[in-house]
Amino acid sequence: MLIVMRQDASDEDINRVIAAIEAKGWEAKPIPGGERIAIGILRNEGPVDPALFLDMPGVKEAIPVSKPYKLVSREMKPEKTVISLGDGEVRIGDGGLAIMAGPCAVESEQQALETAWAVKEAGARLFRAGAFKPRTSPYSFQGLRQKGLEILARVREETGLFIVTEATDHDVCDLVEEYADVIQIGTRNMQNYRLLQRAGQARKPVLLKRGMWATVDEFLMAAEYIMAGGNHQVMLCERGIRTFTKHSRNTLDLNAIPYIQRESHLPIVVDPSHAAGRRYQVAPLAKAAAVMGIDGLLIEVHIEPEKAFSDGPQSLTPAQFKELTSELASMGIGF
Ligand code: PEP
Ligand code: MN
Repeated sequence: MLIVMRQDASDEDINRVIAAIEAKGWEAKPIPGGERIAIGILRNEGPVDPALFLDMPGVKEAIPVSKPYKLVSREMKPEKTVISLGDGEVRIGDGGLAIMAGPCAVESEQQALETAWAVKEAGARLFRAGAFKPRTSPYSFQGLRQKGLEILARVREETGLFIVTEATDHDVCDLVEEYADVIQIGTRNMQNYRLLQRAGQARKPVLLKRGMWATVDEFLMAAEYIMAGGNHQVMLCERGIRTFTKHSRNTLDLNAIPYIQRESHLPIVVDPSHAAGRRYQVAPLAKAAAVMGIDGLLIEVHIEPEKAFSDGPQSLTPAQFKELTSELASMGIGF
């Protein structure tokens, strides 16, 4: 249930509604931003009777929220969420296309810096690279860990790019939060509820990747965990789901994009690199997603993909990345 207050409702009116919600043992969640003042009701077990609130001073309407996800939904917040980095230097969800690019993993300072300058020159505003890597095999490269984060801090200092990097578990979240501008939660962790709850307490935006097995509704419920913890700065990243295909690593679920745009106000980022798994498919998928009005693209770029410690076959060279961003620009897609 969403209680929408009249524009002229006083603080006293609002506080009275909050008290009435809390008196029932439910949680009252004022919804930030927007034209209207609204209060969401959370943690109610059964349906809420609108009559409880409709006669209270200052209340305009009581709208039942039909979906299990509430804070992520357009029903609760019709206007789009905008995530602002720095002093508003980068605004994600504001109509433009934010480009996040970089290698799968930080491998060395030189590799990170060289890639960062190249992607910046081609139009990226965020540098995305892992210091902690969730790998399928325990014998694969697991990332440079804290040293990788220190390199990322250096990249930010030198290039001015904002840093997106993954927190692979609850225990490394404090460290990642300290260094990152945006905390990534990877596909394998989409239903790691302890990590989602920790991300809900973070004071940095979160890029939540869709589980490769997850329905969109499960994906939105995972975002709900983060928002329910108090962090409303969440971006949803479609990165491909498992299907029966053999011609690509995963299948980029483009159908999910208009669905999410209709259901949720959160910015949407598309990662064609992990969806494709193959370099030649990345640019066509990126362009297809870009025309759907998404808010960001996440592209893996490596200075020498054949020598990459991880995800080399799907990484673009800096020249290929530049070609892609030029094509996007010529399609009139701003970033
Ligand atoms: C990554 O972004 O490099 C990564 C590991 O992605 P995902 O969690 O989508 O597999
Ligand atoms: Mn990767």
